[in-house]
Amino acid sequence: MSLLTARGVKLSFGSTPALRGADLVVGAGEIVAIMGPSGSGKSTLLHCLAGILVPDEGEITFDGRRIDALGETGRSALRRDTFGFVFQFGQLVPELTAEENVALPLLLSGVRRARAIQRAREWFPRVGLDGLGDRRSGELSGGQAQRVALARGLVAEPRVLFADEPTGSLDSLAGEQVMNLMVEAARERGTTVVVVTHEARVAAYADREVIVRDGLVHDMAGTAAP
Ligand code: ADP
Repeated sequence: MSLLTARGVKLSFGSTPALRGADLVVGAGEIVAIMGPSGSGKSTLLHCLAGILVPDEGEITFDGRRIDALGETGRSALRRDTFGFVFQFGQLVPELTAEENVALPLLLSGVRRARAIQRAREWFPRVGLDGLGDRRSGELSGGQAQRVALARGLVAEPRVLFADEPTGSLDSLAGEQVMNLMVEAARERGTTVVVVTHEARVAAYADREVIVRDGLVHDMAGTAAP
């Protein structure tokens, strides 16, 4: 069953066309890797699917609802309550401890602080960071910080996790750890994952790979998706 779809999505930044009619169907519980050369439109597609950007033309649906037709308030509620995010450079809040960073999505959804911290804490052994919850991001390695970012992306049990080059800033061992944890956690809960990457070894963790080239989505056979 399809959970998330893009149909004929076009988006330009000024006179630069980033997407030129992109189509993608993501099934519930599916892990899809979006690959393709730099500048081809991968991040823009991810941002449209996640309700961060609104296409100029075309439709984005989540669970049968048009999300491109929602206003900023509706899309931001959807992002907060239903989607999780992991970006290339973790983007942890440096003033907060690792634990507080993980608790953030829960706090923003109105979960009480004590409960949010408790739920955040449960993630640390799962991502191999037992005992590191009170560190700040400056006291963590890149791989550790990215595992904190992963826990933050998953703590509120999102229906979809969007990951944009989640291993892009890591060495291969740390990258593998992050991918293993991400895929394991997603499979355990049936979380749908859309991951943008330019690394074939990262895409190998996915159920399916698509390639974005010149603002269009192609399947692995190299043809534009129907
Ligand atoms: P990728 O993720 O595949 O590297 P992007 O989706 O980031 O590609 O970018 C697609 C195209 O849109 C590129 O030509 C890029 O320069 C342009 N672009 C992306 N974001 C912006 C922006 N905020 N302002 C202007 N141009 C942008």
